[in-house]
Amino acid sequence: MPYSYHQNLALHPLSFPVGKVVCVGRNYAAHARELNNPVLSKPLLFMKPSTALTTLTTPIRLPHHGQQCGYELEVAVLIQQALTRAEPMAAWPAIAGYGLALDLTLRDVQEELKANGHPWELAKAFDQSCPLSPFVSATQIADPAQLSLQLQINGEIRQDGTTADMILAIPDLLAYISTFFTLLPGDVVLTGTPAGVGILQPGDRLLMTLAGEYRFQAEVAHY
Ligand code: ZN
Repeated sequence: MPYSYHQNLALHPLSFPVGKVVCVGRNYAAHARELNNPVLSKPLLFMKPSTALTTLTTPIRLPHHGQQCGYELEVAVLIQQALTRAEPMAAWPAIAGYGLALDLTLRDVQEELKANGHPWELAKAFDQSCPLSPFVSATQIADPAQLSLQLQINGEIRQDGTTADMILAIPDLLAYISTFFTLLPGDVVLTGTPAGVGILQPGDRLLMTLAGEYRFQAEVAHY
């Protein structure tokens, strides 16, 4: 089922067109180290098209063009105002809400692309590579600078982080992105993943928790 904010903003009163997804890599130092990547001096940006979006209620289908489909749990930010070359302070009112996203990544395909100096789209931008939760209105989130995110798989905690550990905080990240790519209402920004990434298996059951209170479930399809 294609993603529609209209159907899935149960926790948010507004609706938006579905836009692009701008992502940042290695925004948590502990995650950069676990994949043996250097912590970068400049943020690493990439994008997923709107066709990458799907709901968490749709079973996750592991794609067939790779063997190792990795999960990365991330705080997702929904944009409600255009941002172009914005200052960080101007980013706050542009945020409609916060949710959770999985930045699905075909790890084996990505390693091959990286080794050849090729772009990452085949590993990260394929159809349904961005399962997304409903959004919680920004007015409901007390402190986005200390927002916890947790992923359990089959009852075991795999990722447990807080936005306080981000290298580039949310307003700075939006300002930086807007230097190159105008963010429009309906766009989503994925803010990077904390340590604990791994590979999904058919039948895995995922429980994702935002801010300790908003819980979302997902399941990996058996085929
Ligand atoms: Zn990611």
